[in-house]
Amino acid sequence: MSVDQKITAMDVWHLQLPVNARRDHGIGSVEHVVDIVVVGLTAEGGQTGYGEGSSWSVFTGSAEASFAALDRYIRPLVVGRSIGDRAAIMADAAYAVAHCTEAKAALETALLDLQGRISGLPVWALLGGKCRDTIPLSCSIADPDWEADLKLMERLREDGVRIIKLKTGFKGHAYDMMRLEELRKNYPEFKIRVDYNQGLHHDNAIRCVQEVATFDPDFIEQPVKAHLRSLMARIRDSIDIPLLADESVFGPEDMQTAIAMGLCDGVSIKIMKTGGLTRAQTVARMAQSVGLSAYGGDMFEAGLAHLAGTHMIASTPEITLGCEFYQASYFLVEDILQTPFEVKDGQVIVPQDAGLGVLPDPDKLTKYTLTHSNGSKA
Ligand SMILES: [Mg+2]
Repeated sequence: MSVDQKITAMDVWHLQLPVNARRDHGIGSVEHVVDIVVVGLTAEGGQTGYGEGSSWSVFTGSAEASFAALDRYIRPLVVGRSIGDRAAIMADAAYAVAHCTEAKAALETALLDLQGRISGLPVWALLGGKCRDTIPLSCSIADPDWEADLKLMERLREDGVRIIKLKTGFKGHAYDMMRLEELRKNYPEFKIRVDYNQGLHHDNAIRCVQEVATFDPDFIEQPVKAHLRSLMARIRDSIDIPLLADESVFGPEDMQTAIAMGLCDGVSIKIMKTGGLTRAQTVARMAQSVGLSAYGGDMFEAGLAHLAGTHMIASTPEITLGCEFYQASYFLVEDILQTPFEVKDGQVIVPQDAGLGVLPDPDKLTKYTLTHSNGSKA
């Protein structure tokens, strides 16, 4: 391997992947399909590395924007560059197109996967080395049909999953209290976390959160709108349960504000918000340096993004609250990987093979492709 090996080709796909249920959240619903982009970078010698950008239009942005960011604005910064220039390419991409953090996450993942495959090293080795071999998995409970979620709870129990995150704030406070009561009564072996996805109105947020806190969840996540930072700080002060920030904190810049304003006890870290794996590590280290905890969150992802998040968390000891990489196993009708994203006894298994450890299946890429570009003007 030479670090001077050039990147010779870049492919970008926009995929639509069918899902098996509906999920409701404080900021919006997901039904029928999820949209992702996949980028493939090929180097001299023919090796290809892959990365995924998992967009959600109400949260980070649209898949169409991610596709355009990669295909039009980032492509000229990548093709012809050396695989050893990852940091320079990422720095250029940060300024080439504003926002589009999922596109930048996909780019850095593909650069790392490519470098790992060529060098024979897992991505976690390129990110500083490994601190764990497994990561506790949390599955989200968000179906508007409560009976359907109870069936999912039985499946999780059988599979050995022992952490759930109840999505709240989309159907009223009484509905949230009813579900918490039932979960506590019938599933005592589960750890419960609560995530509002900004769903509470500022008028009654403190009262609702205080009542939910009586069920003693591990934490309560993002009860109000992302920009209501002072209110987040007041809610934090009003409860004994840790308050997590998600939509309020995308990257290190937001983390700095969150620390200065005292708005949370911890942060949900997602490579799709930070714009890559190394910036996610930065957020985790900023959090830990002031005594805040960190959780491995995700978007509506396929297995390729789960793998990127797994390698990032495997090399980031500051993330101690587990992960939520459940979609490939429990939400997608079919994932895009050649072999299934590995979860065993409620734990995500950290891959040991080169790069991300698993490649996407080319037939599945073709099957679910809406748009594909290799940069040629057909
Ligand atoms: Mg969240």
